[in-house]
Amino acid sequence: MTQEHAALLARTSRSWIGGKEWSQCDADIAHLNPANGQSLGASQCLGAEGVDAAVSSARRAFQGEWGRQTTGWRTARLLAFADLIARNVDDLALLESLEVGRPLADARALVAQAPEFIRRYARMAEVCQGDVTAAQPRLLTFSWRRPRGVVAAIVPWNFPVMAAIVRIAPALAAGNTVVLKPSENAPRAPRLLASLATEAGLPDGVFNVTLGDGATTGRLLAQHPDVDLVSFTGSTASGLAVSRSAVSVRAKPVILECGGKSPQIMLDDAFDDPAVWQGVFFSAFWNTGQWCAARTRLLVPKSRLAEAVDGLEKAAASWPLGDPLAPTTRLGPLVNATQRERVLDYFEVARGEGRLQELGCPSDKLDPAGQFVRPALVIEPSRGGRITREEVFGPLLTVETFTGVDDALAQANASDYGLMASVWTSRSADAYRLARDLEVGCVAVYSSAEAAFSSLQDFVNSYLEPQKRSGHGVDGGLPGLLAYTTAQSVSLFN
Ligand code: NAD
Repeated sequence: MTQEHAALLARTSRSWIGGKEWSQCDADIAHLNPANGQSLGASQCLGAEGVDAAVSSARRAFQGEWGRQTTGWRTARLLAFADLIARNVDDLALLESLEVGRPLADARALVAQAPEFIRRYARMAEVCQGDVTAAQPRLLTFSWRRPRGVVAAIVPWNFPVMAAIVRIAPALAAGNTVVLKPSENAPRAPRLLASLATEAGLPDGVFNVTLGDGATTGRLLAQHPDVDLVSFTGSTASGLAVSRSAVSVRAKPVILECGGKSPQIMLDDAFDDPAVWQGVFFSAFWNTGQWCAARTRLLVPKSRLAEAVDGLEKAAASWPLGDPLAPTTRLGPLVNATQRERVLDYFEVARGEGRLQELGCPSDKLDPAGQFVRPALVIEPSRGGRITREEVFGPLLTVETFTGVDDALAQANASDYGLMASVWTSRSADAYRLARDLEVGCVAVYSSAEAAFSSLQDFVNSYLEPQKRSGHGVDGGLPGLLAYTTAQSVSLFN
């Protein structure tokens, strides 16, 4: 590790509360670089005192300038925050890459989306007003949208910056204050965001970051009686635990964006384009399969199975696996040893339920202390088995076969999750039929491989509600902003 990297890690290892670093420390969490096993130092794990201080600081800020000023005043500060993030993309991306193992180029591309996300919400807040519902000679009634107050945002490690931004941008734009708890696996980039917010002129306490694990810090934050809304992204199991904590002391709304086991259905016309396999590979294996919307179930017509396996084998040749900081790397390691063990256990399940075939991603000089796992296919797994139903969160793609569109739909919907699905076809009637009947919050229809690569940006513009065990509550767009407000009705009687 270079001295520069060590200094950046050291200055982002403590919580940010009330516009400054929180120096008291209840416990430490040690971090290892997933690419080579080297120490990345330790970060703080806050207990009750720190969590209380963060929530109180957010409450004071909400009752102070932030809550009382005009939307335009807040917008100006959020735009300055966005500009400062844009100037610090390199540091934020480096922290993501070191802690999570994401290839640096991918980390930069992702973090670079953050400023526009904030700007979009800051501008949108200006039109988030309300409705006049009665205007009579002796009665004026209007319902207006007010900020909720203190928002607790609890986020995962796989998108340390963007998962935080997706929660905090609409919350702050709507006039709330925020206490963010990043994942214990990747706390530093979100922590850097908070000090940038202070530097950009957000008043102290508007955006706090409490570092720590889920069982202690996350639980304390979710159940805190002075938190008005909990906005969570992470696994379904943790989401359910967060929901229980959130209502344990005082009922409060919870937004849950949880796990997925998402299908991609390839209709026969999609096989005409040889480039399609790059798009299919990307949809399943980008970020080494560690993203909620990874489409890790490929459904193809029975007669095209061999072509699909061959196409993915060929695509793998242009996805080098290795050191995330090397410019040619497109796939990094898994986030830590626990995650690697979990994924390898699923490889065993896959062997029992189908034919496991490793893909030939180039991989020179893999560090033996790194958490690397080579991408693999599970060919024709048994229907309804664990490997087609459970979220692996790693580089494992099932290749399942169907006999017609109805059969494809039935198999895709035979899932406990309902986050996302994609459909590969240029036939609009089939695309519409599938989109209408797929039980998911988001459907992407691709008519080319290129379209699949650009789909990462869609979340900034669209909104969705996950179905089944993938969560509840709306994310994205204007509805995603309104979710951080509460409606109040006022009647003026004369
Ligand atoms: P996780 O559920 O282990 O942790 C998520 C966050 O919740 C972390 O900050 C963690 O510390 C906290 N947490 C855990 N238990 C808690 C508890 N009892 N009380 C309060 N907080 C608690 O998830 P992860 O491993 O960090 O991330 C991977 C998961 O996130 C996958 O399931 C993935 O599908 C999901 N995810 C979903 C989306 C989406 O938008 N739907 C996006 C990214 C990731």
